[in-house]
Amino acid sequence: MELIDGKFLSNEIKLEIAAEVKELKEKEAKIPHLAAVLVGEDPASQSYVRSKVRSCEQVGFKSTLIREDSSITEEELLLIIEKLNKDDDIDGFIVQLPLPRHINDDKITLAIDPKKDVDGFHPMNFGRMAQGMPCFLPATPFGILQMLDRYNIEVEGKECVVLGRSNIVGTPISILLSRKARPGNATVQLCHSRTKDLPMHTRRADILISALGIPNFVKADMVKEGAVVIDVGINRIDDANAKRGYRLVGDVDFEAVAPKCSYITPVPGGVGLMTVTSLLKNTLMACKGEIYPD
Ligand code: NAD
Repeated sequence: MELIDGKFLSNEIKLEIAAEVKELKEKEAKIPHLAAVLVGEDPASQSYVRSKVRSCEQVGFKSTLIREDSSITEEELLLIIEKLNKDDDIDGFIVQLPLPRHINDDKITLAIDPKKDVDGFHPMNFGRMAQGMPCFLPATPFGILQMLDRYNIEVEGKECVVLGRSNIVGTPISILLSRKARPGNATVQLCHSRTKDLPMHTRRADILISALGIPNFVKADMVKEGAVVIDVGINRIDDANAKRGYRLVGDVDFEAVAPKCSYITPVPGGVGLMTVTSLLKNTLMACKGEIYPD
């Protein structure tokens, strides 16, 4: 079994990005600038946004954090988005989800200029992704593709099973891996809460990707010998021995499943770190006008 080391990979990619930023600085070209909008006090969201801002600093990007109280109205948030859309210095921005209940996520996503949508959530980018056109890939699936690619894991012709059909992970990664591309050309099955006899499907998987949000859901008897297992889940479980009173686990029962795998991603230290570096990659591409030249 080999561990797919998200920490190592994300550091490697950050060094590559930092080298590009250095070149841009030397040429006195524009430095990538990412803005993040954080609404409310959700601890997980705060920690994700902190890590995104810190990563910007590490690679030499400019970053702007806009914090708003959870009482902000939808109209007020839409005004902030309009400003960011128009601000020529901002290359890309994200609005951290989830948003408070009184704000419609879809309305917010649709308001973001697709050219600055470095999270890749806008239907314009999603549609272009599905059709194999240049686009900002959603950050987590983009991170998974890089893991598969950089570990030279063969995907073509493999049976791939994805657990979970969210718009940000399960559905896009199932589309990406079935596309005629590299990595891609897999035979993909998308499983969800209404799937019957889930283990029957998971046991067929050469590559199993879990994005459910259920701690330790994937057990050893659900996994084929030699499978590649990508654990996207980030779940907090109570742990009186941990400093913060909780620890993070994935969707996969790591201790039991790992010995059966050819490759497996850990949680923490896996896909989560790749999500952040993919966001940086998208921001760099936005700054250089690589996706939407004009
Ligand atoms: P979600 O929470 O929106 O949806 C969960 C999906 O799981 C649904 O499509 C549902 O049909 C499916 N599901 C639920 N119970 C099921 C069951 N018993 N059997 C089969 N399918 C079932 O999904 P999400 O937003 O993609 O998040 C999933 C997990 O991934 C969460 O733990 C989240 O924190 C994590 N996540 C991690 C990253 C990262 O960077 N590593 C990024 C995004 C999400």
